Amino acid sequence: MFSRILIANRGEIALRIIRAARELGVETVCVYSEADREGPWLEFADRTICIGPAPSSESYLRIDRIISAAEIANVDAIHPGYGFLAENAHFAEVCRDCHIEFIGPSPEAMGLLGDKLSCRQMATRTRTPIFPGSKDPIKSQDDAVKLASEIGYPVIVKASAGGGGRGMRIAHNEAALRSGISAASKEAEAAFGNGAVYLEKFLEDARHVEIQVLGDKRGNVLQLFDRDCTSQRRHQKLVEEAPAPGVDPKKREAVAKSAAEMIRRAGYAGAATVEFLMDRDQNFYMLEVNTRVQVEHPVTEMVTGIDIVKETIRIAAGEPLPLKQREVTLRGHSIECRINAEDPDKGFIPQPGLITEFSPPGGPGVRLDTHVRAGYRIPSAYDSLIGKLIVHGADREEAIARMRGALKEFKIAPIKTTIPLHRRLMDERQFTDADFDIHYIERLLKSDNSDVAQKV
Ligand code: ADP
Repeated sequence: MFSRILIANRGEIALRIIRAARELGVETVCVYSEADREGPWLEFADRTICIGPAPSSESYLRIDRIISAAEIANVDAIHPGYGFLAENAHFAEVCRDCHIEFIGPSPEAMGLLGDKLSCRQMATRTRTPIFPGSKDPIKSQDDAVKLASEIGYPVIVKASAGGGGRGMRIAHNEAALRSGISAASKEAEAAFGNGAVYLEKFLEDARHVEIQVLGDKRGNVLQLFDRDCTSQRRHQKLVEEAPAPGVDPKKREAVAKSAAEMIRRAGYAGAATVEFLMDRDQNFYMLEVNTRVQVEHPVTEMVTGIDIVKETIRIAAGEPLPLKQREVTLRGHSIECRINAEDPDKGFIPQPGLITEFSPPGGPGVRLDTHVRAGYRIPSAYDSLIGKLIVHGADREEAIARMRGALKEFKIAPIKTTIPLHRRLMDERQFTDADFDIHYIERLLKSDNSDVAQKV
């Protein structure tokens, strides 16, 4: 096992990694930006090193500064968490060149699965279901038009190197497709330095279901079942749960098996998530693979009893997966609500500022992953996620009831958060019946606004 690791991240995930490392007897070194000088999580690291000013481009994204900090602190490995450099294959390569273990997949496996087209090709080999669409990058608009007429509109043009929703265009007809191809390609070239785009069928009302996989360096893989992340706004997840409600166990099993096989064939070590959209008939279509630990990993931890963050460290240190597939069992149901410092009534605008009141919930089956406390000032430079409230119950009904109670107890003031929206969602029929698709929250909020408009 490693003696000391560096955490190239901040906030709740930095604290989550500190906790996992501590239990493994591994020391932690946390890097931080000037805006995070007062970050409560830093108190729990064994050592902290400032790596620059507030903008992440000058701190958490600076490979040179992070590597210097790693050398000064003499660490064995770097944990990237999620976001920032977590899916940067160049960073993983620099770590390797510097003889520092990157806690995540090799740059090769990351490149293979992180590129959406090569990932689609991998999926085809393992019979992981994908959307009908391109095998190769689009060469000409005419070829794309021909393919689109074969698979039927609407279609979506996507950047092979895409991420964060950039380089995507939906097309309902030929004219939109032609202009969408050049727009998506230009956007992708500017954002990722790679203008390759491809085409796939666009599914209007889908659920988001994903499979958690772990792979070790000895070629073993485990699939840790599924999560439902259908409750989103603007493609950002708000509520996640495990297992995905109402999915036919046979379908779930087949998809999870194929996803795990894809990860194995990619020679992948670490935590990976294979994301799918699922239609009303429970057909799955792969969206992409995230080559890192996900924000929503706790719901899987709660239902499987496997500490995913600890496993990422153990795997990077060369240890084998702790269980065989048949030993992984599902217990009960878990739900996570993302607590963001945002105002849902005002288009989710971020709410940085001082927290004066912070009263967390408690009781059986309640877990709170947060780096925040009363007296903490949320900086404006980063993501608005300030915590994750997770519950575990014997079944979905109990988990929802437990979440309702926990949200009732949870008080954060004076900044606005997503807590009131979550309280409402837990009573919303579409959520409680799992009769939803990825646009339902937006429709809900839109109907509020039109009610208000009518009253005015
Ligand atoms: P990114 O890596 O940029 O986040 P994804 O491939 O994960 O891109 O897609 C982001 C979101 O765009 C998805 O969560 C989904 O809402 C929508 N989307 C992408 N592809 C499709 C598709 N074929 N049909 C319907 N929606 C899609």
